Amino acid sequence: MTLQGTLLIGQQAVTGTQADIVAVNPATGETLEPRYPGGSRAEVEKACQLAEAAFDQYRETSLEARAHFLETIAEEIEAIGADLTQRGVAETGLPEARLEGERGRTCGQLRLFASVVRAGEWLDLRHDPAQPDRQPMPRADLRQRHIPLGPVAVCGASIFPLAFSVAGGDTASALAAGCPVVVKGHSAHPGTSELVGRAIQRAAAKCNMPEGVFSLLFGSGRDIGQALVSDPRIKAVGFTGSRSGGMALMATAQARPEPIPVYAEMSSINPVFLFPEALQARGNKIAEGFVASLNMGAGQFCTNPGLVIGLKGADLDAFITTAEEAVKASGAQTMLTPGIHEAYQSGVSALSGQSSVKEVARGKAGDGPHSCQTGLFVASAQNFLNNDALQGEIFGAASLVIECADAQEMQRVADQLEGQLTITLQMDDGDLEAAKSLLPTLEQRAGRLLANGWPTGVEVGHAMVHGGPFPATSDSRTTSVGSAAIYRFLRPVCYQDLPAGLLPEVLRDDNPFKVSRLVDGKREG
Ligand code: NAP
Repeated sequence: MTLQGTLLIGQQAVTGTQADIVAVNPATGETLEPRYPGGSRAEVEKACQLAEAAFDQYRETSLEARAHFLETIAEEIEAIGADLTQRGVAETGLPEARLEGERGRTCGQLRLFASVVRAGEWLDLRHDPAQPDRQPMPRADLRQRHIPLGPVAVCGASIFPLAFSVAGGDTASALAAGCPVVVKGHSAHPGTSELVGRAIQRAAAKCNMPEGVFSLLFGSGRDIGQALVSDPRIKAVGFTGSRSGGMALMATAQARPEPIPVYAEMSSINPVFLFPEALQARGNKIAEGFVASLNMGAGQFCTNPGLVIGLKGADLDAFITTAEEAVKASGAQTMLTPGIHEAYQSGVSALSGQSSVKEVARGKAGDGPHSCQTGLFVASAQNFLNNDALQGEIFGAASLVIECADAQEMQRVADQLEGQLTITLQMDDGDLEAAKSLLPTLEQRAGRLLANGWPTGVEVGHAMVHGGPFPATSDSRTTSVGSAAIYRFLRPVCYQDLPAGLLPEVLRDDNPFKVSRLVDGKREG
């Protein structure tokens, strides 16, 4: 499949007029053809106009038609075949198997949302029938459904070039909700983005969707990204990336005459608590599992375990010794972009430059220009409590072990943690009481708590929460992974005493789509 190097605006391919976006193979440092001339504000304007024009038609597509559209996108992405993984490998340095897995996850996600759309539970239909004779006041007829917010801007993420990018979770959940989507593709993988964007274009045409249901723009985030979020037709934003990028977009969204929600997933160090009995019984095994999780994908997962907390003593020393050996044996892996590599290097230098932090081990150095050398560090809880810099995210395979004098100090460390995507408990039966006393604090700090596993690897399902208090995300009430992500792009509307002819079809008395409803507080269907 030949890449064109164009923006995709509705069904059109448009050549940009601004500075080129050029992909770089992070494994070799070579630049990759074609160049992607960036979009101008005129193209942002055009994409937003089309999205707005598409909104009313798209949001009223039948549940079946919308579900079919999502499934057709998945089919079209699968039909790209090896071209997608080959370009993805060249643009990201990720192994082919990882990209194949990610394609499966991306298409699985689209199909999951198709099934969610069909079931219709997300409409959250409610009916409080009129009670004209109620005393002292009659009750009006009240009906509620959820409707989509409007066109959504999605900033494609670098870390999952498929699953969190052009047709990733944000796009799939927004389209499922009935929102047209304008994507600002990540500059690190424009070719992969174009291939997926064209698949969505084809699916939209095949399914007779309104033209503006999807557009894909390229260009600098500070220019095109900001212009997109400022556009009055955009009603919500999905973002995964740096804390500074997320904060900049939140500031822009808040400064608009009409502020809009930004669902930004930004920064998390995913603490792991080692409880004493587990540490004593299987400290070596836990250490090996920890380093395997730390090294996965060169640590470039938002759920990477960047902080480990245990009680100082012989068992924690043994854990650190095993982890040290595993880190020393860790091979270097290519990082996703030169920028991420540079940020990793400077984060590790800043951490090891702290007088209160001891370097335990570094992994093997790599030959490639952007390889990640694993790092393991240790500090006392006292120093952690006195120095906020020790809980800054270092994106990559680096982790800091915190030694606590006793359980009270462990509690103080938990109290001081910033918001996280995950917190992991390594515990045995005898640790139950200690874990229980920490739990109320931990659930205030994270979106997902897990026991005796590792936080990397996020299941895409109905009960998943991939979110958490700031700075993990900008809005702790939501998730960016799993079917509940659809609720980010919906809002409730109540219809009071509307005549039958004016009611939305889904709220009619005969319940034509057989969707479950709450009638007078009782579940029906
Ligand atoms: P990024 O620099 O935040 O970029 C993400 C997207 O946002 C890109 O499309 C970028 O556009 C855009 N952007 C950046 N700053 C912006 C601004 N001020 N206004 C508008 N748009 C802006 O993230 P990244 O490139 O994926 O990775 C860089 C760093 O982010 C990593 O080193 C890591 O520290 C962190 N990160 C964290 C997570 C997490 O989940 N915890 C995930 C990914 C990355 P451009 O095309 O101009 O770059």
